[in-house]
Amino acid sequence: MITSNLSAGLERLGELIANASAIVPFTGAGISTECGIPDFRSPTGMWARHRPIPFDEFVASREARDEAWRRRFAMDEAFAKARPGRGHRALATLHRAGKVPAVITQNIDNLHQASGIGAEYVVELHGNTTYARCIGCDKTYELQWVRERFEADGSAPDCTACKAPVKTATISFGQAMPDAAMRRAAELARAADLFLVVGSSLVVWPAAGFPLMASEAGARLAIINNEPTDQDSVADLVIHHDIGEVLGPFVGN
Ligand code: NAD
Repeated sequence: MITSNLSAGLERLGELIANASAIVPFTGAGISTECGIPDFRSPTGMWARHRPIPFDEFVASREARDEAWRRRFAMDEAFAKARPGRGHRALATLHRAGKVPAVITQNIDNLHQASGIGAEYVVELHGNTTYARCIGCDKTYELQWVRERFEADGSAPDCTACKAPVKTATISFGQAMPDAAMRRAAELARAADLFLVVGSSLVVWPAAGFPLMASEAGARLAIINNEPTDQDSVADLVIHHDIGEVLGPFVGN
């Protein structure tokens, strides 16, 4: 069923949730837009303003690194102010109820953890932008440390231990996916009885392979997104509507 009717969608989603015992949410930037963090591909998204900086360019060019950090600092206030939205809180409610073993997310904003889901139950496919990491030796850094040096020198700092570039702890285009997170996501997808895609355009691969993997392994597939995705035709339920309104009724205490 594909619907943009809220009450029809909610009725069917309620049934799917009630009948499921292993719901695996797969979230994208759309779950966080109501929290003030723009997505990538909407007309108001980040790519309307900036071309993404691929990993090899970040590694090769100090100018690219400086530009990447300038963009990150420009987003500081939005990330710092953001609080979990209705979608995050609904998924946290289902997690507390024992229905959601873990959340798979493409997001880098830390809002699932902020909603009360323990970090060990949040599988981050594209890393986390709330801290930084050396791309050579993996040493982690606070963003504040990077910012102070950037402001003092006008340029992004290198690692104090191995001198390699320091980058937000995110996965850029062209950068290797994190093995452990990819393995865990695959296990979750195969064990799910309901796979719930929330706010993803499903165009970023290999992440976009997980809904199909879950569906092929026998899970029901539900997609909540305000525009169509390439995987709507294989889903059991597609709700084309605002995520906060769809998941708001599932927020509990
Ligand atoms: P995307 O920008 O490609 O897709 C987001 C989808 O959500 C779009 O189809 C959009 O129409 C929809 N959407 C936006 N707000 C919505 C709302 N309120 N209700 C319903 N639908 C809504 O994002 P993606 O699929 O996550 O892939 C892009 C990559 O962007 C990810 O890999 C992620 O790493 C990164 N990203 C993350 C954040 C974040 O952490 N919050 C923000 C921007 C981009």
